[in-house]
Formats: sequence, C-alpha cells, structure tokens
Amino acid sequence: MTAHSNIYPTKALQDLDAAHHWHPFSDMKSLNKEGSRVIIRADGVWLTDSEGNRILDGMAGLWCVQVGHGRKEIADAVYRQMNELAYYNTFFKTTHPPVIALSEKLAKLAPDHINTVFYCSSGSEANDTVFRMVRTYWDKMGKPDKKVIIGRWNGYHGSTLAGTSLGGMKGMHAQGDLPVPGVHHIDQPYWFGEGHEMSPDEFGVHAARKLEQAIDEIGEDKIAAFIAEPIQGAGGVIIPPETYWPEIRRILKERDILFVSDEVICGFGRLGEWFGSTHYGMEADLMPIAKGLTSGYLPMGGVMVSDRVAEGLMLAGEEFYHGYTYSGHPACAAAALANLEIIEREGLVERVKSDIGPYLKERWLKLGDHPLVGEARMTGLVGALELVPDKKNPHKPFREVGAAGVICRDTSFGNGMVMRAVRDSMIISPPLVLTHEEADFLVATVEKTLDDTYRTLM
Ligand code: PLP
Repeated sequence: MTAHSNIYPTKALQDLDAAHHWHPFSDMKSLNKEGSRVIIRADGVWLTDSEGNRILDGMAGLWCVQVGHGRKEIADAVYRQMNELAYYNTFFKTTHPPVIALSEKLAKLAPDHINTVFYCSSGSEANDTVFRMVRTYWDKMGKPDKKVIIGRWNGYHGSTLAGTSLGGMKGMHAQGDLPVPGVHHIDQPYWFGEGHEMSPDEFGVHAARKLEQAIDEIGEDKIAAFIAEPIQGAGGVIIPPETYWPEIRRILKERDILFVSDEVICGFGRLGEWFGSTHYGMEADLMPIAKGLTSGYLPMGGVMVSDRVAEGLMLAGEEFYHGYTYSGHPACAAAALANLEIIEREGLVERVKSDIGPYLKERWLKLGDHPLVGEARMTGLVGALELVPDKKNPHKPFREVGAAGVICRDTSFGNGMVMRAVRDSMIISPPLVLTHEEADFLVATVEKTLDDTYRTLM
C-alpha cells in the first residue's frame, strides 16, 4: 500500500465512530480492537483511506459500483433532478418524468416477457415485496393454498424479515427467530464444499433435483415460488455446475410455481448479460433488482415483474396494499438513468462478456495453482478462491473455519486491495470498468496476499 501524508485525523475519527456508530455486519471484537477503516474518497476502481492510501476496490463497494466511483455525470444528473423535483411519491396514482423514463428503460433491457417494475430502496425491500407479491398472486389465481416459498441454504436475499427468511444463512436465522413460517430451504449447488464425491455434472443434477423432491414432499398445490440467485454472491460466489440450471429449468417447466431470480448482484452486467437469469437461459417470473441499478450512487431497488404476474396481480384492477415512501424516488431514478446510460454507452455488459471478463478469468484461474488454493472459479466479473490447509486433500476444510479467510482479507487490505472473505473463500466482484492494467494489479496483489497469508499460516 502506498502511504501518503496523513490527510485525515484517523484516530479521532475512529474514536468518534466507535462511540456512536453501530456497524452492520461487522465483527465487533476486531472492530473494537483495530478501529474502523475510514474511506474518504473514491475514483474509478480506487478508494482512498484517511491515511492517504489508495486501495483497489475489488468488491465494487458491496457488489454494486458497476460504472466505477466518481462518475460526475451521475452526480450532475442527481443535482439537476434535485433542483427540479427532489422528492415526490408515487402512491395514489402519482408519477413523475424520471420514474416514467426509468421504467421504460428497464422494460427495454429486460427479457421480452418482463415489462413492469415495482420500486423500493434496496434488495431486501425488493425481496419483501416479492414475498407479498407471490402469495397475493396465487390468492388472485384462486389458489390460496399456494403459499410456501422455497429458497436455498446459504442463499442471501437481504436482512429484513422476509429477506432473512428467504435466505439460508443459519447465523442470521438465529437472530430474531427466523425464518418466518412458510419458507422451506433446499441444499445449494456448492460442488467444492458439498458435492465433490460426485463429478460436477452429476452433482449439478443432484442438487437441482432437491427442488423436485421438495415440491413432491410439500405438494405442488402448496408452493408459491422458488427463489434463487443465479450465482450465490454473499454465500461465497457459488457458481453452480453447468448441469444445474438446465435441470432446474426442466423442473420448473413441469410444475406450476413461480421462479424468482434474485438479480441484486447478478443483474446489470455482472455475468456479461444484463441479467444473470438470461446468462443461464432461465425465464424468471419476478426479478428483484438493486445495487447495479444505480451503481450504488443512491439507494434504489425494485422488482421486475413478468406479464404473467403483472396481469394476474396488477392489471386485475385491485389495489396492492404495498409501497414505500421512496418507491420510485425521483433523484434515485435520475441516478439509475444516468448509470444505465453509462453502462450502455461504454458497452460494459459486452466488455464483461468478451473483454475484461475473459482477460481476468484466465489470470484468476491460474491462482488455483497456489499451494493455499483448492479451487479458483470465476464467471463474468465475479470470482472466488477456496483457501485450503492441504492442497493434496483440497476438500478438507481448516480446523477453525474462517480464520484463514480473515487473515487473508486483512492482508489483502494491507497490500492495497479489497477482497472479501466468506468462511475461507476469498471473493472478488470488481467494477465493470476495471482496465487490463488494473486487472494485472489485482491478480499480482492477490498472489502476494496468498504468499503472505501462507507464510503466516504455515
Ligand atoms: N439479494 C442479494 C442476492 C444480495 O446479494 C443482497 C445484498 O447483498 C440483497 C438481496 C439485499 O440487498 P440490500 O443490501 O440492498 O438490502
């Protein structure tokens, strides 16, 4: 990490932060011991901290800053919108030009059968909206018994009540007595961690058939929907074997349940298509979106709704008693429009598919040769490395799961790059504007970080 002059009073900021700020998803013991990291500005793929260090943002914030940091054009669009109409709601038949334009744009970008958007402010709210939509849909269809939603263990759909419940994070379920009733979880398609006794192809089919088994056990007449991320992000970048989604597609075709593709991470180019479900040839009935919609410049989420669901639910004429004060917020809609304009103009989706995606993947996969790495995987611009204690016996985990990951994550930060740890999987999800030179820096930094971590551990 390049040290510049100490431009901010780091210690004073940390102390003040510790006194009054409760951090989300933060290990309080290490936070209290080491203090928070203070980020003061960002530009492109680079963050600057309060010590003046420049750090490559290998996670695009929290998987969201598709167009990179510091895009003045988004700030200008928001500024103009705020001067025109900073806020008005979209309840009670009201609308405004930016939300109209954004809805038209999203309908154009989505697959042909999706033409309607319901707005909120985050991915969690989007999934709470999904929860109510799918149950209400079946009520309207005259099938009120279809209420169960199937999610997956280790899936992530947010941290509100419905989001946490639909997700399959046991640690989260334990806080707040979740999941709420009516949610069922099936196994995830995590070949490296849970399926290596079969070939990846066999395991993909095996994991997909867990859905079929659950439907048979619970009864198709009781199931409203299946929700899944095309690639599980927060669960550790679980890229399913190639056979997984085709088998799920076969099952969904035979059964009358809705498919919810959680596009909060995989949407807006992350996998080299506008939506992750299209990357896998899946037809979603509902798509929760957030993050890359505005590249995180302002908070905005939504649920993209297929004609089938919209016709059953919205166009049926009855009021849906659901909405948020900030549904379709004008300044957020302006940020989203400016962000989507950049993604289109700079061809970022195509760039992930045929330029920077394959470029980084080729180099990333070579990190699989490192003595500390059991598997390297990447699709689009999202990847993971599985740290293992014994390369000859790669599926055997560390005795204390997660400790190596934390060392590697902190070492990476010290070496000038943000890489996140999920258990002992190291994950990246860089901005889609990453250049070849920055990709080279990223890989070189990860290599050095693995070497340093290896020395610390062994
Ligand atoms: N769904 C997925 C797949 C996510 O990864 C996330 C956040 O990481 C969410 C939903 C929740 O989004 P938010 O944090 O905006 O509420």
